[in-house]
Amino acid sequence: MKVIDLHCDTLSELRHGLYRGEKIDLGSNHLQVDLEKLKKGDYLLQCFALFINLGDPYNPLVTALEQVDLFRQAMRQYPQEIRQVTTWEEFLENRKEGRISALLTVEEGGCCLGNLSVLRVLYSLGVRIMTLTWNYENDLAWPNEVPGNAANVYPCAANTTNGLKEKGLEFISEMERLGMLIDVSHLSDAGFWDVYHHTRKPFIASHSNARALCGHVRNLTDEMIRAIADRGGLTGLNYCASFLDPSDHPRSTVQRMAEHAAYIRNVGGIDCLGLGSDFDGIEGDLEMPDASYLPMLEAELRRQHFTEDEIEKIFFRNAMRVLKEVLA
Ligand SMILES: [Zn+2]
Repeated sequence: MKVIDLHCDTLSELRHGLYRGEKIDLGSNHLQVDLEKLKKGDYLLQCFALFINLGDPYNPLVTALEQVDLFRQAMRQYPQEIRQVTTWEEFLENRKEGRISALLTVEEGGCCLGNLSVLRVLYSLGVRIMTLTWNYENDLAWPNEVPGNAANVYPCAANTTNGLKEKGLEFISEMERLGMLIDVSHLSDAGFWDVYHHTRKPFIASHSNARALCGHVRNLTDEMIRAIADRGGLTGLNYCASFLDPSDHPRSTVQRMAEHAAYIRNVGGIDCLGLGSDFDGIEGDLEMPDASYLPMLEAELRRQHFTEDEIEKIFFRNAMRVLKEVLA
């Protein structure tokens, strides 16, 4: 089964390697995503996030650009295996010629430094999806975290009061105009609804699950799932144990993933589901330890009575529909 994955943090790991003085090869490495694993998993397209942690002592824009540089080096190194896509035609051409497509995304809108020119330049470099926040408040919006918390402290209550700032509203309007998907993963509940009320086009939660099954604020409420579905958007299943399993010792299993998939399908319909692994951003007890194991999830969906058509939609067809619209 072909695969389109909406989120991984592999470029950030390549950058960390560089800072340690270690050159990590995208072709084959110890990470959860490399070309060998993507081929084994039968991937059509992998989204590669430029991940920025605003708590780190680095310029966020430089951090993003360092990852663009590493991404481009990797694309130059393996032109027959993988190629960046910025248009729908490029995706179709890669598919025809059996190459994996690579799409740049941003995880942390703060890397734009509140500057629309930076946003447009990132677009020109091929960025087509951007989360407005990660786990920190920035100049665009507030994240899932409750204001005042030290960043990256879970669990916490949903932030239903602080959403998008004035600058955030300017950004989502420009993103829609440019043709860049707004990604609401990590965004506060209030911010989610600000995006919903101030946009017209499909938007996505690239790597979030169902809050009703696992009460983590990174996951979506039923109302959010319906809102994304009504708009023709997507939510990408996240394989992180603590977003799948509410127990004290959470495990990431394909059974639990399929349960979230069934729940989201029953609430929002089959057309709003995709995959957002979060590979190379998650660790711990993973039944699917890397990208080569995707056939395990396919088999489990079948075991839980998903139809072939439904599995195809989850694995790649729904993402193709949304990407076709944004890359057009
Ligand atoms: Zn994330």
